[in-house]
Amino acid sequence: MPTVTTPNSNNVSQTLIDEGQFLNLSRFQPELFAQALTFALSNQTKVSIRAPGIIMFEPPAIGDKDIVLSSGIHGNETAPIEICDAFVQGILRGEIVLANRVLFLFGNLPAMNVAKRFIEENLNRLFSGAHSVANAVANAECVRAKELEVAVSEFFLAHTGRERIHYDLHTAIKPSKNDKFAVYPFRHERPWNKQQLAFLLACGINTILLSGSATTTFSYYSSNQFQAEAFTVELGKVFPFGENDMSQFEALKAALHHLLCGEELSLKPFNNDDFLIYQVNQVINKHSEAFRFTFSDDVANFSDFGKNHLLATDGDERYYCEYEGEAIVFPNEKVAIGQRAVLTVIPTKI
Ligand SMILES: [Zn+2]
Repeated sequence: MPTVTTPNSNNVSQTLIDEGQFLNLSRFQPELFAQALTFALSNQTKVSIRAPGIIMFEPPAIGDKDIVLSSGIHGNETAPIEICDAFVQGILRGEIVLANRVLFLFGNLPAMNVAKRFIEENLNRLFSGAHSVANAVANAECVRAKELEVAVSEFFLAHTGRERIHYDLHTAIKPSKNDKFAVYPFRHERPWNKQQLAFLLACGINTILLSGSATTTFSYYSSNQFQAEAFTVELGKVFPFGENDMSQFEALKAALHHLLCGEELSLKPFNNDDFLIYQVNQVINKHSEAFRFTFSDDVANFSDFGKNHLLATDGDERYYCEYEGEAIVFPNEKVAIGQRAVLTVIPTKI
């Protein structure tokens, strides 16, 4: 009978090198990573695990980019989790050789295990300190948001003068008229980076939503705190683990592989005509349990309506389109009172 090694705290690093199952162990034996763990791969890449789901790789000669790839900030958004898991496995087993420092973050492990978006609270509303505001209950998501912030902070601040990149990978609850899209966090004084948009196009993402204000999302945190080139990247619709059509992500996986491994990527120069770029027009918050959309539950993200079209009612309140072609993104009637129920967007160019 073959002997099966049960990972324990003594042999966990060797198990990871042999099998690469960091995500699996993080989800189902998180106690293995209760203590920080550091080891080296045979190609001299340094591996640092600070907590379950948080793993950093540093090749011996580091390139000019520090890259954060986060997934599973919403636990049921499986496609990006599977993409990042495959990268982590390949790196641990020595099949993928990095040229840049990379931090992989698998966000909400307990939510993954019950196939839910979150357990108690939307993790992607808890960054930039929102996890610790007065009278907030320190639930598991608050604790995790803080832990993720510390990991990103230490990762980026370990070096200066380097390009900082953070792609926070999601899938949307709804189908989208534009299958993949990216939310570009508000940059304050910094101009939009067209080179980054050219990279996203190479990933198969041609729809960009320019955020117009500070938020408590993960990508805004990295962008605002560390001047990272950061995006919330939406890769299509939610499916359970193992049920994603991974062929839809070939361009993304290839582009990320080039980025991680420092391989030249010939990007098409930025041209507005290759993109659908939107800016936020209205942020509609839910103020009461009477909040209702006028459109059906299955309407796709980026569906657009005519000027003066009634979008939602909230008791006596009425919300209308202000422009011809104003489109809806992230509609969710079920959010908590006070939270955003929908964004409306209008086409723009940069
Ligand atoms: Zn998400």
